[in-house]
Amino acid sequence: MNPGRRIIDICGVVPGSSFDTRSMITDERIPERAIAGPAGVGTSVRRSDAVDASPQTTKAVIEQALAADFFTIEHHNGYEHIRQTTRYPTEWFDRIIGIENKPDLKRPGELTRQLQVDISLGLFDAVILATKTHVTRAHLNRIPDAVGVWQFNPDTDNRTIIRQPAELATGTPGIELGSDQSDHTEIHPVSSKEKTRARRRIAERAYGKGWRNYTLPSCAHAETQPDGRPYCTEFDCVINPAQSCDTECPAHTHAEPPQYNKAKVRDARSPWNHDPPGARYRQSGLDRFK
Ligand code: SF4
Repeated sequence: MNPGRRIIDICGVVPGSSFDTRSMITDERIPERAIAGPAGVGTSVRRSDAVDASPQTTKAVIEQALAADFFTIEHHNGYEHIRQTTRYPTEWFDRIIGIENKPDLKRPGELTRQLQVDISLGLFDAVILATKTHVTRAHLNRIPDAVGVWQFNPDTDNRTIIRQPAELATGTPGIELGSDQSDHTEIHPVSSKEKTRARRRIAERAYGKGWRNYTLPSCAHAETQPDGRPYCTEFDCVINPAQSCDTECPAHTHAEPPQYNKAKVRDARSPWNHDPPGARYRQSGLDRFK
């Protein structure tokens, strides 16, 4: 089971006590199956047994973990063995905040349901709804009580906290709401161990790929701001390309998307390390002092 597959709009990861250790290993995502599998720092296992998955998935996970410098290969008795290069720093993230971005509450779609799923499962420490809409009492009545509400104007960066989110129980079992049948809703219990793994998977995904992770528009009016946010010079505002930019935009003028060094901007604006030394390098550096 893989709880919480639904993708949230924005995932905020609050660094924990061992964030620096994590940031030294790799700037990429470390696959959860490599972290939780049988290969450890003190345990090398045959390559075919290094991950608890199908042969195809095992191959893909090993390649990804090797590229991330989290696995290394050793040879014993003519066979390749896999070992973790370093102990995974489980305390590298403290809290995970899920933010649903719904600019227009007049078109809520599946919003209430999505928020109920998030609250019931409890993978995030807090869930927040961010909207540009003026929030009324009627809106609040449709949003689960545990969900925090922000009114946010992306043009001015002005944020008003309408309601604080509740702290969710991430360390206890949760319930994943399934599809609605005519007379009942399917539910799937999720153990606290599964939640721990799912949270780590979410945090790793955010660490590896999750910053300003959208396609910039192929439009001559698109720019990036110094902080990396996409900006439209025609309408003088920050844009969400997925919502604002397509060929139906009356001012769309086809051009190459704007270029910017995302890794450099992210490195400068967050504790994420674009070019870490890697676990093995760090280890060999320490070996010099033995
Ligand atoms: S597609 Fe429209 S909104 Fe997007 S950058 Fe171009 S002009 Fe601006």
